[in-house]
Amino acid sequence: MSRKFFVGGNWKLNGDKKSLGELMQTLNAATVDPNVEVVCGAPSIYLDFVRSKLDAKFGVAAQNCYKVAKGAFTGEISPAMIKDCGVNWVILGHSERRHVFGESDELIGQKTAHALESGLGVIACIGEKLDEREGGITEKVVFAQTKFIAENLQNRNSILSHVVLAYEPVWAIGTGKTASPQQAQEVHEKLRQWLKTNVSEAVANSVRIIYGGSVTGATCKELGSQKDVDGFLVGGASLKPEFVEIINAKV
Ligand code: PGA
Repeated sequence: MSRKFFVGGNWKLNGDKKSLGELMQTLNAATVDPNVEVVCGAPSIYLDFVRSKLDAKFGVAAQNCYKVAKGAFTGEISPAMIKDCGVNWVILGHSERRHVFGESDELIGQKTAHALESGLGVIACIGEKLDEREGGITEKVVFAQTKFIAENLQNRNSILSHVVLAYEPVWAIGTGKTASPQQAQEVHEKLRQWLKTNVSEAVANSVRIIYGGSVTGATCKELGSQKDVDGFLVGGASLKPEFVEIINAKV
């Protein structure tokens, strides 16, 4: 079974047309491994701009969307609007959405279902907090989060294959504290086993499970060489030329 290596950039609430324009010029000019799928997560107001400036060899993702197509939901955007901007991916359930904005497992599951049914690919994020890891409940937490992502999908075997699962331990996000390659591999392997038991072997073998949390040019090669690490979701380093090094981790 071969899973195409996947590297997502998560620009979060950063940049403006000038700085993102410069970053895109760097990316467009870079030599990147053609065997890697690269997707940049842009602020929603810049989706159109980013899609028009970024080379077609890179995908673009929104960083969030709502669970319905339209209606009286001030401030929200829909998968249909994202697709209308030529953008094919969305990041859902990021730990900042969960813990800063209070999004529940249930809402993230509903958003995932609607985004997939609308034809978007979903980078679905899960991950334990430091006290949960220290309390020995990492698996319990990430399995419960994954269950909500898988459970809300109709015809889930076929649709779930458009999901990239991003394991991002909350204690490693933006802290400079990367999980060790062994820590990442251990959770990824258990997640794949969970998918096999609870969804199907085919989905378990095809879903890409990527790691996020302070990934840098210096840490990406060893992390990326782990059997069940199929790529990265990169925050801080995705705003720097270093992102190219991370994309090319396997070469
Ligand atoms: P980081 O962010 O690489 O800055 O830790 C990762 C993420 O939030 O996806």
